[in-house]
Amino acid sequence: MKKNIIAVLIFSLHQMVFSNQLDFVGINEQNKVYNLEFSLEKTALILSQSSNSPFSISLEFKETSLKENFNLKQNYPIKNIKSTMSEGNSIIEIFFYEPVMWQKPQQLKNENGITVSLSLEHSAKIKKMTREALVIIDAGHGGRDPGAVAKSNNVMEKDITFLIANELFRTLEDTDGYKPILVREDDSFVYLDQRYQAIRQNSGDIFVSIHADAFSLPSVKGAAIYVWSEDASSNSAKNLSSKRISSTRVDEFDFDEDLARSKYPKIYQNKKNKSLQLGEKILDQLKLDPYTHLHKKRIEFADFRVLKSVDTPSVLIESGFISNPEDAKRLKGKPGRRMIARSLFLGINNYFMENNEDDFYIFDSKGYLTYTVQKGDILSEIAIRFGVPVMDIINTNLIRDEAIFPGQRIKIKILTTDNL
Ligand SMILES: [Zn+2]
Repeated sequence: MKKNIIAVLIFSLHQMVFSNQLDFVGINEQNKVYNLEFSLEKTALILSQSSNSPFSISLEFKETSLKENFNLKQNYPIKNIKSTMSEGNSIIEIFFYEPVMWQKPQQLKNENGITVSLSLEHSAKIKKMTREALVIIDAGHGGRDPGAVAKSNNVMEKDITFLIANELFRTLEDTDGYKPILVREDDSFVYLDQRYQAIRQNSGDIFVSIHADAFSLPSVKGAAIYVWSEDASSNSAKNLSSKRISSTRVDEFDFDEDLARSKYPKIYQNKKNKSLQLGEKILDQLKLDPYTHLHKKRIEFADFRVLKSVDTPSVLIESGFISNPEDAKRLKGKPGRRMIARSLFLGINNYFMENNEDDFYIFDSKGYLTYTVQKGDILSEIAIRFGVPVMDIINTNLIRDEAIFPGQRIKIKILTTDNL
């Protein structure tokens, strides 16, 4: 009897640790938006990509099992959904009659496990498989965690990071082809683990964590860009990371990013390279920003837990030192914060220009962005937002008397270092 109990225990432990069963639940359709739903027992690493020959999406669910293979015929515009098992991974392929706009799958927790949903949109306008670039924006600290506090000038880091995050969100939200997601949408407390878990839940393409610093010496100032490293590059970075390791929140439904680094060394190496590339692009922009002094002219490496996604390029920006009077003034004011958000946006944009594997519809055939004018917008501010001369916008869009209206869609050509 005892033996049996032990056997059952070992068996269920084995199930808990090693199995993650994937099931196809079904498809919902509403106004030509299709939602394909799957279930998992816990969060998985899902690699997704699309193809134009034939029109299809492939989802590779790492370390999952299927009850049985299937090949299900579907209704237009979906042809069929087919599964295969390979080396402990499940692969789901979705074939289409015509190209669709798609989003990488979301993984949301429910009472029994994980709901995976893949959203597709079918429209005659879509000529090839395409999707939006998903940018996860993490405003550092929040709620009961104020972050760095400068007592002399009443500046709290959590407020600065929130305002910069929202400014960046606004530019991305109103530019075609970008889908920004804010990790925190208000002044609430978010666990560090929940911040990088937001990337996996939403299948983010990149992750940007926004911070500001404080130091005992008020003369220390300037911005810096960090990427993840298990062994930090400088003493100051070491201090920063130990300061950041606080409460954790991980449960059995979560994906283990730490374990994944050794399991998927190639995926992790690629993430490291892309994080550096993204960091460099942002740093290049910060160097051009007349408002912002740089604390570090090169990318810094730090063991910031928030950056540890195994596959999603992740960077952290320290926007400045709120313990420095000049930086505090800059970050307290809208123009200074806007410049940080702009450098982030332009860096991100240049990054996607070079990483367009999934045919993001960010750029039109001539390389222009499309921005939708918002209520209260004026041309000179749009020009600052995108770092272009007002006259460029006027000439490209044949605007008379600087008159623009909400909802107007205007074309903007970003100046890269090549065409400056
Ligand atoms: Zn911080």
